[in-house]
Amino acid sequence: MSETGPVAQITELARRLVPEGIKAKIRPRLGPTNEVVAPPAAATKWAASVGSPWDPSPTPAGDVVCNICHWSGASFAGAAHCEAANCPRCGSIARDRFLFFCMQQRIEPSLGCTTLETSPRMGDEYRSAMAGWFDYLCSDFDESMHKAMVRIDLQDIDLDDASIDLVLTPHVLEHVPDTGRALREIHRVLRPGGTMLLQVPVLQGRTAPPATPEFHGDDTPVFWRFGYDLAAVLAEHGFDVHTLVTEEWAELVASGTDRWDGDVSGEFDDVSMFSGTRGHEFEIVADREQSRRFGFEPAYMFLTWECRKPSP
Ligand SMILES: [Zn+2]
Repeated sequence: MSETGPVAQITELARRLVPEGIKAKIRPRLGPTNEVVAPPAAATKWAASVGSPWDPSPTPAGDVVCNICHWSGASFAGAAHCEAANCPRCGSIARDRFLFFCMQQRIEPSLGCTTLETSPRMGDEYRSAMAGWFDYLCSDFDESMHKAMVRIDLQDIDLDDASIDLVLTPHVLEHVPDTGRALREIHRVLRPGGTMLLQVPVLQGRTAPPATPEFHGDDTPVFWRFGYDLAAVLAEHGFDVHTLVTEEWAELVASGTDRWDGDVSGEFDDVSMFSGTRGHEFEIVADREQSRRFGFEPAYMFLTWECRKPSP
């Protein structure tokens, strides 16, 4: 993208206006690029043409496939990164597809189940599709995602006990001050046997607060930088926890590797990450071919925690 584009201009303005101690942590979004690939207007209506998330995808026409909207082509748009590799039809980025893939692989087909998604990044067409498949509670029906990100309080969820079958919560928990209180609330609203699929940025091996104030691009403060030790915290709160990763990542960890062999995106600390994996169990959800086809690369960027509330 151009260095003088609107995002660059806003970022530069923020850099000038924000106090010195915070400047270093300002970033327009978590990722290597500010490139936003707008889907062509004529191609954005896809929800009605996609069946159940658990239907077999049609034979892809190209090398890569979006498992959400079934677009297929030669490559995704933008860099190979969890925050990029955009689908030109639905606008999904790679971590959107990984979360959806984990749902497809790990949740029994359950059309109509009650699903709560906190601050989905994707827009109206995705939400329309989800509302067609599920009894779908979305945290921001009519506000911008930025407003919703601060409006949602996982620490005090306004829902009945045992009222939700599936919670999808991508990149929200790091913005919640009291992790334990949020986990108790999610556990409370889940039905026994229900599942939370949780994504947070894992940029380092062990959980710690940011060393200096940190904000994501929508100005929401980051209270926690989580590591793999979050799995133990999830288990302490009554969940049966599985740490879902790609085959490549699981095999690298098992091999005892202590650093990524290649360039590492600046916000990730690969040495800390590999160090933090010791003693933790990872479960493969996507093999190498699936990771390539759906864009779950590079492997160190993809992780979803599957957290089941046990049945009595
Ligand atoms: Zn798509």
